[in-house]
Amino acid sequence: MASEKKFNEMTLTEETARCLLCYDAPCSKACPLKAYPADFIRSIRFKNLRGAMETAYKKGEYSVNCVKICEGNYCERACLRAKIDEPIRVKAIHEHLVYRAEAEEVFKSFRAIEKIKKEKEEDAI
Ligand code: SF4
Repeated sequence: MASEKKFNEMTLTEETARCLLCYDAPCSKACPLKAYPADFIRSIRFKNLRGAMETAYKKGEYSVNCVKICEGNYCERACLRAKIDEPIRVKAIHEHLVYRAEAEEVFKSFRAIEKIKKEKEEDAI
């Protein structure tokens, strides 16, 4: 699917504004890697970019590797926006979030938080 154009702040906002915020989102249901794209698109819509990056990074059976192996075939083919004009560029949005989080080293803080949570869970046992 079309994911060749990179996003900037404006085009990312424009693209996610096209999302219909579907109930029981077909894009998420269609994803074989369980990346739940509707969740990170919704986070962007509500100006929670950090939350979107966290979701894009943490969800999915292969986590960050999803974007490297995914062709966007399932989510974008299932996208209901295609009935109006074009599907949401889900794969490109996912790539943008993951690579941006890598560039901004957001993952380091995610990992630190996960480590603290795990330590607390172990202490509680
Ligand atoms: S199917 Fe398309 S329009 Fe619906 S939530 Fe997913 S990305 Fe948005």
